[in-house]
Amino acid sequence: MDDIKYIFVTGGVSSSLGKGIIAASLGKLLQARGFRVTIQKLDPYINVDPGTLNPYEHGECYVTGDGAETDLDLGHYERFLNQPTSQANNVTTGRIYQSVIEKERRGEFLGKTVQVVPHITNEIKQRIQILGKTGDYDIIITEIGGTVGDIESLPYIEAVRQMKWEFGDDNVLVIHLTFIPYLSAAGELKTKPTQHSVKTLMESGIRADILVCRTEHELSDELKTKLALFCNVRKEAVIQSIDASTIYDVPNMMLDEGLDTVTLRKLKLNADKEPDLTRWNHFLSRHKNPKAEVRVGLIGKYVELQDSYKSILEAFIHAGAENEVKVNLEFIHSEHINARTIGSKLSKLDGILVAPGFGERGIDGKMAAVKYARTHNLPFLGICLGMQLAVIEFARNVLKLKEANSTEMNPQTEHPVVNLMENQKNIHALGGTMRLGSWACQLKKDSLAYQIYQSEEIEERHRHRYEFNNEYLEQFEASGMIATGKNPDSNLTEIIEIPSHPWFMGVQFHPEYKSTVANPHPLFVGFVKAVHEHRIKRKTKS
Ligand code: GLN
Repeated sequence: MDDIKYIFVTGGVSSSLGKGIIAASLGKLLQARGFRVTIQKLDPYINVDPGTLNPYEHGECYVTGDGAETDLDLGHYERFLNQPTSQANNVTTGRIYQSVIEKERRGEFLGKTVQVVPHITNEIKQRIQILGKTGDYDIIITEIGGTVGDIESLPYIEAVRQMKWEFGDDNVLVIHLTFIPYLSAAGELKTKPTQHSVKTLMESGIRADILVCRTEHELSDELKTKLALFCNVRKEAVIQSIDASTIYDVPNMMLDEGLDTVTLRKLKLNADKEPDLTRWNHFLSRHKNPKAEVRVGLIGKYVELQDSYKSILEAFIHAGAENEVKVNLEFIHSEHINARTIGSKLSKLDGILVAPGFGERGIDGKMAAVKYARTHNLPFLGICLGMQLAVIEFARNVLKLKEANSTEMNPQTEHPVVNLMENQKNIHALGGTMRLGSWACQLKKDSLAYQIYQSEEIEERHRHRYEFNNEYLEQFEASGMIATGKNPDSNLTEIIEIPSHPWFMGVQFHPEYKSTVANPHPLFVGFVKAVHEHRIKRKTKS
């Protein structure tokens, strides 16, 4: 195909309507018709990336293979398309300005006054087209964060307008996602907010090609006609997106509504072939028809906002479907676990996951949960900080090194069983300076990890500063905690296990980032299997 096609997804009326899921669902449908698709997110905030944002602000920070700290929507893109994203797939206003200012300092603008239009908008357009120029894709879907009318979004909307003008309607398509509120007092769905947001878009020179309408109730034919007339779109381009019980239903819902066919027709692409969703639907039917249920405790300190652990939750859905088991996740705040509450909080669980995290708050509760899992033979998975705490708990209670700690929590600790990597010691800036992205890991052959991965060399994504201190490794191994995965170059310990325990594993990396619908992550699949077996055993005993 000669021309790259660009699809933009903008949002109106309200935030949190699920632009990411609509973009990912459309991407899935186009991919299932044989097109090569990638999805990008432009975020209008001034942080250079979300890596320095508190999870309460923005949910999880998603890490790509090339080590970019990105918006959690990229996780949806990867999970839906089963295809990696990269730094180029997430750009913030901060990054745009940073690069324009660096160019200005290098004198690249030859004495010109540097302005939002054209310099910032040119930089935005260039960032959109970078993916098109790789030659790897036929269609680039770009989600514009925020809501039209926001001051922050203006340069992005202007960049879209310019691209539509430069490349034409056959190559650039705008999908506007909006909300149709239901007024229960009047018993009516209201279209006015949508009319206004379409008008706001129009004031910036953009006519939406397709309207996707989030709604809690079915849109009548009459309402669709009205929306089409007042919002200046064809009736078949008014797409209903009704609340779904799972995000994984949305591609099929969009297929039924014809989102992919209208998109292809408008872009003058072949819409004859039906999308092949066999694999997707196989997953969906397993997800919806579990043969058993299990209860897993997720111990973390950001549990009030479930988006903080988005990829972990989704990885459990993939692994649950693979095992034909429904995983009921119980979110347990680590600060609520203490000697008095531990029994009532943990005794009904079939498995425990201790979540990643930063800083001291809540670590005692997490460590108590590790100890509970270790001493009650409960399947345990510790991720990143979760692994580090498993190491500290073992040092304190098995090796009897009472003062053992991570230097993150106590820089003066007598026994730094977890400490800073040498190359981290002189780093003071916080943004983008952790050990990030994909690193190789060599597995010991006679280990649970090897059994699960069925491979001696794996690659997993990281996001941390601290590491297991190998000076203590001999002591740990002599007492039954073994390093079964190591980085082949640096020898850093990436996986620990307790072979005398039925299923106890701590991993320094984040397996959740690599779990997709088409490829559920083997560690989560193995963990859920062990949790299920544990439950069966427990039930037959009682
Ligand atoms: N705070 C720990 C570190 O930096 C763990 C980070 C994490 O769990 N992602 O090493």
